[in-house]
Amino acid sequence: ATPAATMVGTTIGAQNGVLFKGGDVLERAKDVDTVVFDKTGTLTRGEMELTDVVAVGEVPDGGAVTERDDGAATDDSATADDSATTAEDEILRLAASAERGSEHPLARAIVDGAEARGLDLDDPESFENVPGHGVRATVAGDEVLVGNRKLLRDAGVDPAPAAETMERLEREGKTAMLVARIPAGADDGELLGVVADADTVKPSAKDAVGQLRDRGVDVMMITGDNERTARAVAEQVGIDPENVRAGVLPEDKSDAVEAIQSDGRKAMMVGDGVNDAPALAVAHVGTAIGSGTDVAIEAADVTLMRDDPLDVAKAIRVSDATLQKIK
Ligand code: ADP
Ligand code: MG
Repeated sequence: ATPAATMVGTTIGAQNGVLFKGGDVLERAKDVDTVVFDKTGTLTRGEMELTDVVAVGEVPDGGAVTERDDGAATDDSATADDSATTAEDEILRLAASAERGSEHPLARAIVDGAEARGLDLDDPESFENVPGHGVRATVAGDEVLVGNRKLLRDAGVDPAPAAETMERLEREGKTAMLVARIPAGADDGELLGVVADADTVKPSAKDAVGQLRDRGVDVMMITGDNERTARAVAEQVGIDPENVRAGVLPEDKSDAVEAIQSDGRKAMMVGDGVNDAPALAVAHVGTAIGSGTDVAIEAADVTLMRDDPLDVAKAIRVSDATLQKIK
């Protein structure tokens, strides 16, 4: 493209909230045949809310309730008997205390949810973030784990008794997290229950996927979240189940994009988080959500100022239109 055409294209983009980092980016965007969306904060608002607390198996502090059915009332536990409420409140209190040290949106939602319920949180004596898996913290002398199945297995706690609860919440598109405790001095940990956070899909996400598919662009999703939750969200926005890459660790996102591109595809990766930055860098075009982290914006070629997934299709259209005119 001539410098003049490039300038027109980047200007039109900017007027529409699509910032191209340079003329070469504008030229590359028209060749995109696959768009890979990060899930959280990109297709969804990234504003998690605590939705469920379910006691499973052991009950903290010798509470009267032993086990609860998987279909049992969860967030509406006020209708259950008092001891059930106590068990769930204690699970939430421990989970939130452990999550105090984490900046993760999942953690913020747990802490906010516990505070909204008026629970008195402890300050963890120690805290460890296990990226892509959860947190381990020491709360009142005991070790408390909050995170996915692997986090518990690695600590020698069997997540199996919570399997049905986890699956039910995940099918609802929620991110379900296990809560376990390893008492001070004990060898064995105990599974306490499950907490779940939910996010909402951005209103235009489905239209954005539709517009891209209408152009003949393949649409995919990549996420650290589990397969079931990822597929539930994919279904809401119209992404095919086989185009979902779930359970991808932060450090593996760029490999996943390279694998997608290995057969000659030209992928646009769209993401918002620190963990998306390497994937944004290896993609044919990296596109950052404007409200995302600075690290993502720096790694990207394009920034969407309005945080609107529809602008992904717009970016490709502007590139296409600009370069066609000067052919
Ligand atoms: P995403 O790509 O959706 O931002 P992450 O890679 O950060 O997800 O995390 C992947 C999974 O690890 C989460 O779905 C959750 O199960 C678990 N996890 C990560 N951080 C935390 C945390 N602070 N508390 C509980 N679970 C967590
Ligand atoms: Mg994200």
